[in-house]
Amino acid sequence: RAKEEGKNQYRFYDRTMYPEAEETMEIKNSLRKALERNEFLVHYQPQIDVMTGKMIGLEALIRWNHPKRGLIPPNRFIPIAEDTGLIVPIGERVLRIVCAQSRAWRQAGYAPIRIAVNLSARQFSEKDLAHTIKRIVDEHELSPSDLELEITENMAMKDDKQGILQELRDMGFTISIDDFGTQYSSLAYLKNLPIDRIKIDRSFVGGISRDNKDEAIIMAMLLIANRLNLAVIAEGVETHEQLTFLQDNHCHEVQGFIFHKPQPAEEIGRLLLLQSVPVE
Ligand code: C2E
Ligand code: MG
Ligand code: MG
Ligand code: MG
Repeated sequence: RAKEEGKNQYRFYDRTMYPEAEETMEIKNSLRKALERNEFLVHYQPQIDVMTGKMIGLEALIRWNHPKRGLIPPNRFIPIAEDTGLIVPIGERVLRIVCAQSRAWRQAGYAPIRIAVNLSARQFSEKDLAHTIKRIVDEHELSPSDLELEITENMAMKDDKQGILQELRDMGFTISIDDFGTQYSSLAYLKNLPIDRIKIDRSFVGGISRDNKDEAIIMAMLLIANRLNLAVIAEGVETHEQLTFLQDNHCHEVQGFIFHKPQPAEEIGRLLLLQSVPVE
């Protein structure tokens, strides 16, 4: 009923009664403007090789710097952008920001570091996705191996995505499966799909030393990945207990607040500089 009354109907809701609904409507209406006004920015979270302590990669995570509301996290607006289709130009914007940043670090003389970019389902269904990404990478004089593309299990499984994955893989991009173990999928796709890495979801990592079942699942994931020659990274590592468990079970790539939260590019630049300096 409210819908029929036009797009301004949200003004008639009581703010205190429906703050969420109103915010959602406002986000929907202002996403396009945000794109035009360059209000999206990218934070980067380091991925660490625990054996060497070095950053082996970064994950690019979008934020919306809203003029009135401040930094809005992706979970608040990505699903809305997905619904409206705006995720396609927003995703392209993220790729451009990431490539420009990677290029700038390269020109500043830092050692190259792989950057992982999250793709959304809608983006992944675009027919010319592979060529769009390749064009952006080329424009920045980067190579596909400088980027990793993160997709989820549902995306990988959906009406035979093997073709596009193979195309991206052949171009030289690495592919990782995000939030691994949390969606509908079958183990057969691990055998059939051209992927490079799985990211153990932080819901499992959170159960370490609290829930035997989570620990069992993580151990099984590591075993399978290892046998299939897939790299594994654990997400959301926050405690020393979690880190120790992962190391004891031969998971050496981790990402989580225990090392670094996602940070603006300038902060990451400082970390890259430290890492580029040879240690005595
Ligand atoms: P994700 O890809 O699984 O990203 C990891 C999320 O976990 C990030 O949240 C990160 O800040 C958070 N995280 C990392 N380490 C820890 C930890 O130790 N503890 C806790 N509690 N959280 C940790 P963020 O940045 O809010 O992003 C949320 C989700 O939004 C992402 O989940 C991803 O699905 C989506 N997203 C982010 N950027 C993009 C983007 O550029 N495009 C698309 N399509 N989706 C994006
Ligand atoms: Mg991700
Ligand atoms: Mg994840
Ligand atoms: Mg996710």
